[in-house]
Amino acid sequence: MDKTSEILQDSFGRQHNYLRISLTEKCNLRCTYCMPESGVILSPKTQLMSSAEVIEIASLFVKNGVNKIRLTGGEPLLRKDFGEILSALSAMPVELSVTTNAILIDRHIEIFKNCGLTSINVSLDTLDAAKFDAITKRNQFEKAFENIELLLQEGFKVKLNVVLMKDFNEDEIIPFVQYTQDKNVSVRFIEFMPFDGNSWDKSKLVSYAEVLAQVKAHYAEDTLVSLPHEENFTARNFKIKGYMGNFGIISTVTNPFCDSCNRIRLTANGKLKNCLFSTSETDLLSTYRAGEAIEPLIQQAIWKKKAVRSGMTHSSDFENLANHDNRSMITIGG
Ligand code: SAM
Ligand code: SF4
Repeated sequence: MDKTSEILQDSFGRQHNYLRISLTEKCNLRCTYCMPESGVILSPKTQLMSSAEVIEIASLFVKNGVNKIRLTGGEPLLRKDFGEILSALSAMPVELSVTTNAILIDRHIEIFKNCGLTSINVSLDTLDAAKFDAITKRNQFEKAFENIELLLQEGFKVKLNVVLMKDFNEDEIIPFVQYTQDKNVSVRFIEFMPFDGNSWDKSKLVSYAEVLAQVKAHYAEDTLVSLPHEENFTARNFKIKGYMGNFGIISTVTNPFCDSCNRIRLTANGKLKNCLFSTSETDLLSTYRAGEAIEPLIQQAIWKKKAVRSGMTHSSDFENLANHDNRSMITIGG
């Protein structure tokens, strides 16, 4: 099927062909913007999707037109059955990818290759080991960095996700752009977003405009090249003339990309979220386990999707934390 079926279309005509599946609520890092300081209450194991359930539910979405699947978490590579899941999904007619913190990549690189994976998104918020320890609360910078280099050596397309925060890493925008000089890597600066337990505050935001201002102050005007938008883009992309890699800015807070959104999310405990910021969820797993069809639930959930950020259209709505009755990011799956 090359067109999405009706069940994946919302009331604004957007087709949702991109499913992000969270495989776990657990992580081997504790990034402060993602994992609440007090931790999270983990779902009991019996309420999490088994590998067979992930595969079967994913295949239902694929039958209805999903042609892009990203495995995320928590840290997806922590799942012992990660290889089994990736291998089964790789037999489906989908573009597959993974978002990971890179710590376990060396142990999984053969699985990636065997499953034909070509593109991996890796989170790395700093190029400084001490700052890495501070933001992730774990002492794993070298492992993460070596594994990113390993992916590049092995020819993977690597996108580096950098969440920017004031007084933490805004001084690393230029070093990250510099990193693209002789590496075939796409650095994506992400505006810090509010989720449960991450103490979001607008004053901590480093905006799209601030990133570009720093880049323009550092590089001559004629060396900054705007790249064409990708389909269903979430980042505005640029490169410095002559550099191998490129960089982009994901400005969900100051300039969202909802018009072209094609993404839906399935949490590790089998709940469908029609938007990253949705405050309601649809329990697919219980219905699936009861042996009933989940397609009507998927259709209703997607049809109800709001035009912009789950109804927080204006920045004042978005900045009001009372409107964010959501999960923590670690239990959503970014
Ligand atoms: N553990 C994997 C990782 O870190 O790549 C996958 C899960 S993580 C939740 C997915 C992505 O969400 C990461 O790129 C992370 O930087 C991003 N993320 C988490 N919390 C965020 C926040 N508050 N604002 C913006 N991005 C966030
Ligand atoms: Fe873990 Fe990724 Fe969240 Fe960091 S961003 S705590 S690595 S899930």
